[in-house]
Amino acid sequence: MRIFDPHIHMTSRTTDDYQAMYTAGVRALVEPSFWLGQPRTSTGSFHDYFDALLGWEPFRAAQYGIAHHCTIALNPKEANDPRCVPVLDDLPRYLVKDSVVAVGEIGYDSMTPAEDTALATQLQLAADHGLPALVHTPHRDKLAGLRRTLDVVRESALPPERILLDHLNETTVKEATDSGCWLGFSIYPDTKMDEHRMVALLRTWGTGKILVNSAADWGRSDPLKTRAVGDAMLAAGFTDDDIDQVLWRNPVAFYGLSGRLHLDTPPPDTATAPLHEGNSIRRGGE
Ligand SMILES: [Zn+2]
Repeated sequence: MRIFDPHIHMTSRTTDDYQAMYTAGVRALVEPSFWLGQPRTSTGSFHDYFDALLGWEPFRAAQYGIAHHCTIALNPKEANDPRCVPVLDDLPRYLVKDSVVAVGEIGYDSMTPAEDTALATQLQLAADHGLPALVHTPHRDKLAGLRRTLDVVRESALPPERILLDHLNETTVKEATDSGCWLGFSIYPDTKMDEHRMVALLRTWGTGKILVNSAADWGRSDPLKTRAVGDAMLAAGFTDDDIDQVLWRNPVAFYGLSGRLHLDTPPPDTATAPLHEGNSIRRGGE
């Protein structure tokens, strides 16, 4: 089973996670930029974070045989913080980087006017840079949040086939499907969506435009939930080809819209990989 996790925050995960993900079949991932759990106090904090997503984290992933790409954006939550909003002006210089495969995650958190502006501005940035967009839908008041998101998407220059709506569930799947966007589902250990509900959704809605991710971060989460969905699909009678479509070909098709996916990862190599700038050891398995 080959797996592409289209939404996972590896900066908050360990090397054990990379090892376990490789063993489970993960060969590629996308790390969306998001908030840090603690508020940033300046745009400089974003710059260092974006640089880590472009340099250090791909370096770590490569030692475990996993291709790492990222998405860059001002996240919805910090779109409300005047100390952070000026980073919007700095995004163009990151969006031209080779491993940036979308603008994201953008969208709504509390559905404020500041979030309206950040979402519309960043959808335009995606259109200007020929990139698709990863759009987070809010965890509270989900259906109202999705509707407001779709209103802004429809007014934007990005067509729906270049948008991935993420964190969907049973209450939002119908309207999301009708929108023509790609559909993302985050599988969590004990809240929101689990792998069995995911299988039921796949039965009803098909495998055509659905992506499944672990959304693992610094909260309670599990980077192997993509594999859990593959196993649950097998147990439910889906074919290997169905599983490959959901866990590999759909994320490749969506992020491939950037023209920047590089999936030819070398086998894991923690002993002879070159050093990352300023590091005296590889922080891998040696
Ligand atoms: Zn996320």
